[in-house]
Amino acid sequence: MRKSTFSTFIKPVRRCAALLCLFAAVLGSGGCGRKAADPYVRTAFAFDTAVSISYYDNKDSAAVSEAMDRLEYYEKIFSRTLEGSELHEINARLAEAAAEGLGDVRVPVSELMYRALSLALDYAEITDGAFDPTLGRLLELYDFSGTEHTVPTAEERAEILSHCGRQKLKLEPSADTAYPYQLTVTDPAIVIDLGGMAKGFIADCLKQELRANAVSSAIINLGGNILVIGNKPDGSPYGIGVLKPEAGSSDYLTSFKVTDASAVTSGSYQRFFEKDGVTYHHILDPATGLPAESGLLSVTVVTESSAAADLLSTAFFVMGEAKAAAFLENYTNVDAYFVDENMNLNKYLHK
Ligand code: ADP
Ligand code: MG
Repeated sequence: MRKSTFSTFIKPVRRCAALLCLFAAVLGSGGCGRKAADPYVRTAFAFDTAVSISYYDNKDSAAVSEAMDRLEYYEKIFSRTLEGSELHEINARLAEAAAEGLGDVRVPVSELMYRALSLALDYAEITDGAFDPTLGRLLELYDFSGTEHTVPTAEERAEILSHCGRQKLKLEPSADTAYPYQLTVTDPAIVIDLGGMAKGFIADCLKQELRANAVSSAIINLGGNILVIGNKPDGSPYGIGVLKPEAGSSDYLTSFKVTDASAVTSGSYQRFFEKDGVTYHHILDPATGLPAESGLLSVTVVTESSAAADLLSTAFFVMGEAKAAAFLENYTNVDAYFVDENMNLNKYLHK
């Protein structure tokens, strides 16, 4: 049996002594005209979004340059849409197998892919399928990051959903030393998508790399997916704000202080399209195949691991506040901020 990895990220009450209360857009680090106390900022476009690393050590930090260079490397592993990426190849292999009418398919995967898929499956399990890494076929149709939007009919959704679900993916240790990491897919009509957790997972990887290169204070921002390393150089925590969930808004509904933690927001206002007067946003309810309607505009999750924050913010958006609140009672190192459709902010803090 594969060892569960989620306990290394979020801790059920029984096992957790330490409390972690940290959090979403970084306050007071932007703007033009750098002052002495301001960080240096490197920016790029990756994962279909703006990314940046803010840091203090020195303007030409080699560690930060390396981390920025690595963004492309991670994209070539986890992007579902980038041709030639590892995930794209895995999905192509599954499509071929499906076309040939094959049943179980075993696919060798990289260690990083194995680790990410392990986390995705663990969280799919503990969120009772609210997080589902197998929704790629529906996402291909909706094409939220492109322009060819197709809204699947009820029949199409039912057909596609019959080929979705975490139970159809299995990660087991392999005795084959040439391919130690293998994924078995029991239904090759699946298309895997890791868009709901890849940025968080990558932020955690970048943090490890930066820390290994002696960076002790920085902010990694992958399209609003924030991970803070340490404190500010003066020893004070970073301030983060929960943005008002409206496209383009820069108003904050609340703010808080964080040290060594990640804050990730999932919202219906971030990526959507309109068709025939209906708005379709990019977080799907795996029960219906439609954009999740849980009465929320956004969920922000704050915890140490950015992968966990990313996975949970997506899952909580699907679950809705009541279910997510019950979930949170069991995890004392996870905080969450829910904004409902009436713009009410509800906080679940363990401080
Ligand atoms: P963002 O992509 O803006 O960071 P999220 O982390 O909430 O926001 O992820 C949304 C993405 O996750 C979608 O674009 C899609 O790739 C994927 N996704 C959508 N619904 C689900 C779901 N129920 N479970 C897992 N992944 C999902
Ligand atoms: Mg997410």
